[in-house]
Amino acid sequence: MSNISLSLYLHIPFCKHRCAYCDFNTYTSLLDLRETYADALVAEMAQVAGGVRRPVHTIFFGGGTPSLMSPASMQRILDGVRANFDLAADAEVTMEANPGTVDLDYLTAVSQTGINRLSFGVQSVIPSELALLERTHDFGTVVEAVQMARQAGLNNFNLDLIYGVPGQTLNSWEQSVRTVLDLDPTHLSLYCLTIEPGTPMQRWLLNGRIQPPDPDLAADQYELACTILVEHGYDHYEISNWAKPGKECEHNLTYWRNGDYLGLGAGAHGHAAGMRYQIVKQPRVYLRRLEEAAAPGYPLSTAVAASHAVSRAEAISDAMMTQLRLLNEGLDLAAFEAKFGQSVAEIYGSTLAQLVDWGLVALANGRLRLTQKGWFLSNQVFYRFMLDEV
Ligand code: SF4
Repeated sequence: MSNISLSLYLHIPFCKHRCAYCDFNTYTSLLDLRETYADALVAEMAQVAGGVRRPVHTIFFGGGTPSLMSPASMQRILDGVRANFDLAADAEVTMEANPGTVDLDYLTAVSQTGINRLSFGVQSVIPSELALLERTHDFGTVVEAVQMARQAGLNNFNLDLIYGVPGQTLNSWEQSVRTVLDLDPTHLSLYCLTIEPGTPMQRWLLNGRIQPPDPDLAADQYELACTILVEHGYDHYEISNWAKPGKECEHNLTYWRNGDYLGLGAGAHGHAAGMRYQIVKQPRVYLRRLEEAAAPGYPLSTAVAASHAVSRAEAISDAMMTQLRLLNEGLDLAAFEAKFGQSVAEIYGSTLAQLVDWGLVALANGRLRLTQKGWFLSNQVFYRFMLDEV
């Protein structure tokens, strides 16, 4: 049995309302499936584990809106994890929550199931920005949700904010950042809005109701947040993530260290045992597929939609693109060479030299890291590290 400790991502594909910018795998008309879906997640775990209790150190319930699941469902799912995996006693167990969907009884009940970290989708404190995003809460609801989380003993929580929102200014963004800091979160994730094809927001852009986002303003907003958060004692440990010391998101660190994680539930992605895979997206199809008898074997379930063995070129590209996201840690050059039998310099040669020359990455103390200039141009840097073959 492998001793690699896994992370588990469990996707909850239900929301009460679809927000204008959202292209996540979520459904507003399938709330009645929630109880059945919880049981299907447990069935999927049993298929994937195949009777081998592999160690697990983080669990992340993402969505959709996981906080629409009843505490009893969360209990059944987590009991399923404990039955099929060797869950560490100090495992980080995160649940994404929408501020308007929780109350004290709910948060107390889920904390008793083993949830010990929350991630609240705040997005903005400005009413007009929340209205444009079609978020149904206001900031007062966020304040209440955070107070109730604390009362329930859930003191470790992330707040998400979005910049680059049409109509948002540098001042309104600063107001959102400074206001959420008053709630003293242990972790903050700041995302730049992307207007995805097929979303209402894309239609509004095309018909002129909103103006296209201004990338220069978004860069200024990011830079301002970097300054404010560091002044407030947050460590900027990943391109879009800041944490109080010791409060980094262990689950996401697995992704950024290019580690093994299992994706369970409709539309989830996984990366384990040298494979990448995706689960079918539609929840009804997911439920049906799990009734099929023979699972393909670890790490796949009968609900897998696509999978492939990770090639050497893909593994190298993945290592570069995930680990460079970690701003302090970066990529360990000796570990890279031990794993792939060639150094980063041997593989990337002049590409690496050019990126160093342009001041986008730097080599120091045996590690390769993005420079501050590189934070702003990370996608271009990652693009240069993608390999078709090696
Ligand atoms: S709450 Fe999140 S997942 Fe649900 S529709 Fe809004 S953005 Fe999408």
